Amino acid sequence: MNDPIIQVEHLKVIYNKGKQNEVRSLFDVSVKIYPKEYVIIYGPSGCGKSTLLYSMSGLQAPTEGQVTVEGRNLSQISKKDMVELHQVGIGMVFQAFYLIASLSVLENVCLPKVFRGESKKERQEEGVKLLHRFSIVEQAKKFPSELSGGQRQRVSIARSLVNNPQIIFADEPVGNLDSESAENVMRILKELNEVDKKTIILVTHNPDHLHYADRIIYMKDGRVVKEEVNTEKRPVDALKVPDVKYEELSNELKLLMRTFKNLSLAQIGSLMVPFKANQLMSHILSELSREQVQVAESYLKEFLFNNIDAETMFKDLDMKYEDGGADWNKRRAASFMERVTAITDLSRALTEKNETESSEAMAKYLIHLFKLKMDQDEMRVLASFLRLRLRNKIDREELEKKLDAPKKAEGAGLHSVTAEKISREVEIIMLMKYS
Ligand code: ADP
Ligand code: MG
Repeated sequence: MNDPIIQVEHLKVIYNKGKQNEVRSLFDVSVKIYPKEYVIIYGPSGCGKSTLLYSMSGLQAPTEGQVTVEGRNLSQISKKDMVELHQVGIGMVFQAFYLIASLSVLENVCLPKVFRGESKKERQEEGVKLLHRFSIVEQAKKFPSELSGGQRQRVSIARSLVNNPQIIFADEPVGNLDSESAENVMRILKELNEVDKKTIILVTHNPDHLHYADRIIYMKDGRVVKEEVNTEKRPVDALKVPDVKYEELSNELKLLMRTFKNLSLAQIGSLMVPFKANQLMSHILSELSREQVQVAESYLKEFLFNNIDAETMFKDLDMKYEDGGADWNKRRAASFMERVTAITDLSRALTEKNETESSEAMAKYLIHLFKLKMDQDEMRVLASFLRLRLRNKIDREELEKKLDAPKKAEGAGLHSVTAEKISREVEIIMLMKYS
């Protein structure tokens, strides 16, 4: 259940390789699709969406890289298994329907069963059921040319389902339909995912459809450029963190748990990145709308997963809602990204540098951030307290006390509000270290 149902690794597809009309369609694409997910592949015309879909279905052979479907490498399976996969493993729906004009609606729907050697009665039972389900049973005896576009697409969806495949590929399935028929077909596909638990991979260039998916894979110029999650259906161990028991936690994580009271063991085990995104967002932002925060948080999560870079995230934050962005403005996006990169850079330094260097870098960052006026000695004292925290000799509360205590009592003599802010910032930086 937790293994991907489809895994694309370093896929490269070049058409007419070595010839004058060579087209590089996909460059190093890696994608994992999990069972029961509804994934949309989104991007402008010509970016390689159909090529990726055909590669996943085994219709297009890779130039380099590999595609695995239900655990089988498509470059290595026998012809017979490939046929089996196309007949019963996957169903396909296309923009152009591809119905056979000389066959009735019911015969079209049952066609994939003909090659399975089932009797006519068996075939038709299942076909009629599907026609009923999609409200086109009255059209059973008609020919495709007598149907509307929306009805034809429902016939082609019924045909894709007749052998009960686990995976449905849909390439721009509503590209030729008016908006009402399009919504109708999109709702049918959503229902197949939610009710029938089919894995759906749908290709579109229409941003209005993105809300239907659990996950959106953005493509541009033959590459995956971004990923966005509406509903997390990837299994928790896709994040590759083992189960944890409290006793086995490092001292550092135990101390962090004291600060982040809502940081659970489950989160340490599997949801650390989403949790981190959430903490960092609420740490930095206050006066934005819920929606602006939510959209931005999903980007931040992808940034922390290393699925997108800082530049892409900045653009997405600035972009309008209508264009799929978070609808911030440039100034806010810039100051936010500066803050996020400062924090993530510092937390990276924690894993790469020793505690003396890290505590000095952190002291400088905090002085800059909170505009503190400190001389060399005061800075040294601050760094020494930070070092204690980084070595997990003290927890957040003890750090705050030391920062707040008067110099006479061997403290840093900071204002209590500043002491609180600094200790909070330090915990966030330490938390970011965990992936
Ligand atoms: P999309 O579905 O995103 O519009 P495609 O995967 O159809 O993109 O195409 C990606 C690129 O590969 C385009 O430049 C297209 O012209 C080219 N291409 C697609 N199929 C072929 C083919 N059979 N032969 C040569 N070039 C192709
Ligand atoms: Mg296409």
